[in-house]
Amino acid sequence: MSGKLEQDIKFLPGMGPKRSELLNKELTIFTIHDLLYYFPYKYIDRSKFYSIQEISADLPYIQLKGRITRFEVIGNKNKKRLVAHFTDGTGVIDLVWFQGYKYIAQGIKVNTEYIAFGKPTEFSGKINIIHPELEETAKAETAVITSPLQAHYSTTEKLKNSFINSKYIHKMQAVIIKTYLNEINETLPEYLLSRLKLLGLKESILNIHFPQNPEMLKKAEFRLKFEELFYIQLALLKQKVNRDTKYKGHIFSKVGEYLNSFYKTNLPFELTGAQKRVIREIRKDLGSGKQMNRLLQGDVGSGKTLVALMSMLIALDNGFQACLMAPTEILARQHFNTIRKFLTGLDIKVYLLSGTTKKSERKLICEGLNDGSIHILIGTHAVIEDPISFANLGLAIIDEQHRFGVAQRAKLRDKNGLPPHILVMTATPIPRTLAMTIYGDLDVSVIDELPPGRKSIKTIHYYETKRAVVIDFIKKQIASRRQIYVVFPLIKESESLDYKALEEGYEHIVKWFPSPSYKVCVVHGKLKSDAKEKGMQEFVRGEANIMIATTVIEVGVDVPNASVMIIESAERFGLSQLHQLRGRVGRGVDQSYCLLMTSEKLSNEAHRRLTTMVRTNDGFEIAEEDLRLRGPGEIEGTSQSGMPFNLKIANLGKDGQILQYSRDIAMEILNNDSNLEKSENTIFVNQLKEHAKDRYSWSMIG
Ligand code: ADP
Ligand code: MG
Repeated sequence: MSGKLEQDIKFLPGMGPKRSELLNKELTIFTIHDLLYYFPYKYIDRSKFYSIQEISADLPYIQLKGRITRFEVIGNKNKKRLVAHFTDGTGVIDLVWFQGYKYIAQGIKVNTEYIAFGKPTEFSGKINIIHPELEETAKAETAVITSPLQAHYSTTEKLKNSFINSKYIHKMQAVIIKTYLNEINETLPEYLLSRLKLLGLKESILNIHFPQNPEMLKKAEFRLKFEELFYIQLALLKQKVNRDTKYKGHIFSKVGEYLNSFYKTNLPFELTGAQKRVIREIRKDLGSGKQMNRLLQGDVGSGKTLVALMSMLIALDNGFQACLMAPTEILARQHFNTIRKFLTGLDIKVYLLSGTTKKSERKLICEGLNDGSIHILIGTHAVIEDPISFANLGLAIIDEQHRFGVAQRAKLRDKNGLPPHILVMTATPIPRTLAMTIYGDLDVSVIDELPPGRKSIKTIHYYETKRAVVIDFIKKQIASRRQIYVVFPLIKESESLDYKALEEGYEHIVKWFPSPSYKVCVVHGKLKSDAKEKGMQEFVRGEANIMIATTVIEVGVDVPNASVMIIESAERFGLSQLHQLRGRVGRGVDQSYCLLMTSEKLSNEAHRRLTTMVRTNDGFEIAEEDLRLRGPGEIEGTSQSGMPFNLKIANLGKDGQILQYSRDIAMEILNNDSNLEKSENTIFVNQLKEHAKDRYSWSMIG
């Protein structure tokens, strides 16, 4: 990248320190390069002019060319407005301003040709345009760069208040492009541009801000999206290729006593076809001599724990230890209990390690891990923190990976000796495009089949006004000995309000379900861990009929007898989160229900989320819809670990095809030149370095 583009924006003519500081803060735009790569979000066709006689109030934004014959400020003190009478010879309309009218009135010239741009509306039988953009024709025609498609940039309230609006950004882009276009160096090799018929970078940047025509805009968009996704894929795949050649893996060649006796005597049911297939995939990795790095995706309840356990038994059969990590203590404990139950009667030592493990117990565990007498360690990330070390850790399993992040994964890999095989499990079905980007360096297995006999969960949306019906329903369910979850939202920004809602909700529920006929337990993040554990155990043992909780229960709890999930203020949850919560029921043989409670006032988007939930139980379908509705930054899970890439132009919800294409091309290039050593590929190496500098999180990958 040329040094000139790295200059601070504050030196640009028409910018100055105040505006530049605002742009730093609000949009993290610091350099000329940053601004050039701040792309428009939409374009409006400014090539067509309407005549006043043909316009009506149902037209979208339009352009007129004409003169103002006179203008006046009318209305009383509080409701003043500026009205300008505008004519083009075919008719007259009013241009109206309610805000900033003094300033505008000062600048208006009568009988000068203007271009007016805005949305026609109808007011007491007359067409007018409220708050139009107004520009003298003579000035418009001498604009630095003209384009039939006018780019629009999103800005923030703060920026707009300081007159840094879309138009201003557009103007600055023109200033930059006029002076600096030639400083832009190509970032893809010539051979790739011509082979893939991609537009050059200079032309792409020019056309993304000032499209010469719709075709050029399309080409520019394609080129920039391709490049953005391509470099992510190249970085990920290069890392995968490097790792595969650099890191040898322990070879687990045999299946022995542990797995065999578990399979014969302890496995309580037949594996599903999907479980069998996935275990085969894992076995193949474990025997390959390379380090396994595999992502196991499977909807809630698909039986991932069993797959994890059987994989660990393979490690044990080959004389190695295994560990399983969960994001929360509750979930770690749950895994611990499940796995111990599965292993009843087998001579396998399993321990639980967490933040609350007592010092003496911790010491014991450390010794057992070091002398190899402990076979399996289950816990939170405390498991990989110093001073924990294993005699010979062969397999590390990470549940709900997205909350762990890439950094922790790397930590595991850095333990001395050969790195353990790594299996990452996630219950959040991730759309393929997102998985390719976030987990692009992993191999992927999918459990796409639920254990047999599951009845699909009935989901019903109730407005608050139907509360009585819901209470009745719960009473009947409890009468037939089922258990009920009631979940309240807990959003960081409104935490104290949310806890209040939960407490009020609790009081209501206790009134409707009084003790001693009913028992209600509470579990949420603010409780001390023993109180949390107590509530949890009451529910697990079936003593409590109703559990009131925040999203704490989102991961992990497995109570097959719970058949109703009630989600309060369901409009406030994201789709993936709703789906995760729903997955807490439907684990037993009974018909299960998910009741979504909302107020009557719903945004369109909330409404769409709720109808999606009612319509389908398919986690992947829901994940795709979530991606469409909210965009990748907001997808459940990814926001916690941080989407490792901040995309400037590509959209993972819409650009799946370009993503696949860019991944294929990146793979092809690495197949021919795995270290990017050929001279024609030098540009890739430099670009990867640039990107790693640019975005700190890229460095987590390398
Ligand atoms: P996940 O972790 O994928 O959400 P779990 O491993 O907790 O799912 O499994 C959900 C439930 O299904 C557990 O009670 C588990 O014992 C049970 N289960 C797992 N595999 C099978 C199977 N093949 N047949 C019947 N039940 C199964
Ligand atoms: Mg699980």
